[in-house]
Parts: sequence; structure tokens; C-alpha cells
Amino acid sequence: MTDISEFSQAILERMGQAAVRAGRDPRDVRLIAVSKGVGAGRIREAAGAGLRVFGESRVQEAASKARELGDLNIEWHMVGHLQKNKARAAVEIFELIHSVDSISLLELLERHSGACGKHQRVLVQVKLEPEDTKSGIAEDKLEGLLAAAEGMKNLRVEGLMTIPPFFEDPERSRPFYRRLRRLAERYCLDELSMGMTGDFEIAIEEGATMVRVGTAIFGERPG
Ligand SMILES: *Cc1c(COP(=O)(O)O)cnc(C)c1O
Repeated sequence: MTDISEFSQAILERMGQAAVRAGRDPRDVRLIAVSKGVGAGRIREAAGAGLRVFGESRVQEAASKARELGDLNIEWHMVGHLQKNKARAAVEIFELIHSVDSISLLELLERHSGACGKHQRVLVQVKLEPEDTKSGIAEDKLEGLLAAAEGMKNLRVEGLMTIPPFFEDPERSRPFYRRLRRLAERYCLDELSMGMTGDFEIAIEEGATMVRVGTAIFGERPG
């Protein structure tokens, strides 16, 4: 067995155990293998090991991998900040965009999806810690953004995503994940993209439907 297949099996097992601990069905949590900085050859290997969904954080990088791996039956997700001038290319590549953070970006995605005859699935990235430098919209702007999305025909907001501040102790992510789940419940949104290598089990205990794991599958990223 290769490292990638061994590591991804171990992650899937830990995901399943976390789900069971929380009284959830393990099938309700998907693994997004975050492959930013990982070459196409290793993504092919990961697909061979059974991984189906890959998360990228740069549109250009994803576009070139998607071209090179066009023969594989895999799904690409955008997990990084999406610049407005890349919205059109993003619509062409990504099944799900996790990182919508403004009404203007939403409007661009709606327009490009319409032009491509595509129905674009998106999540809204929420920034739960105001002084944080990461992208995402503030909690109090969410309602306005969701109201704007309701009138759109070519895209659907399926849920929320967040990246909590980094903590050594993963338990400290828990209150953030709990808050995101409550927000999703308030607006009747089904999907919760939360949890990374250091804290995905906590996120699953708090209701994650997708975890975004890179390092634990592919190893440390250079740089
Ligand atoms: C890189 C990245 C991840 C994966 O992080 P790891 O700690 O390597 O698992 C998850 N989500 C986003 C948005 C990322 O940019």
C-alpha cells in the first residue's frame, strides 16, 4: 500500500469513529482531500486509492491539474479565497465553491453560471473572529447575502464554511464549529464545511458534513 492510500484510509477510519461518537451516520461526512501544492501525479495516485473529491485554493493551479487529470472521475472544489477576476474560470472547473464571501462575487458567479448553462453549488465562508485576517463575511452580513442569493436562478447556496483561528489544542476550535452549525440551522442550510488536519474530528462531532484535509493525506506542504 502507498503512503497516500494508507494515510487516507486512516483518516476515513478516524472520521467514521468521530461520527459514531456523535451519534451520526459516517456516510453523512465527506472527505475533501486538499491537494493545493500537490502535483498531478500524486493526485492520480490518491484517486487510485479511492479519493474522489479534491480541494484546491488557486484557480490557475486547479485548471492545469483538471486538464491533466481529465480522464479521471473526480470532483474539484474551490476552498481558497476566490478573486473576482477568476470567477468565470472557477465556474468552469469547480463542482462546489466553498469560499463565497461577498454579494458581488455571488452575482458574478450567477452571471457566469448562467452563461455556461451550469447550476453552480456554493457555500458561504463566514469569518467568526472579526479581527482575523482570513477572508469570509462577518456573521451580521450573512442574512443579506442569503437574501440576495434567493433571487438567483443559476446557483444555490448549500451551506457554510469556516476556518477558525489556529490553535495548538483542537478543542479550542469546538466553539467556532458549534457557532457555525447554529448559524446554518438558523438559515436551514444543510452543508457544513469545517475541520482540517488538526481538528477534523472535533468538527465532525459538531456537525461537519465535509472536512478539508491536506497535510494528513499528502504530508507537509513545502514553504
Ligand atoms: C490548506 C487548506 C486546508 C487543509 O489544511 P491541512 O491543515 O493541511 O489539512 C483546509 N482548508 C483550507 C481552506 C485550506 O486552505
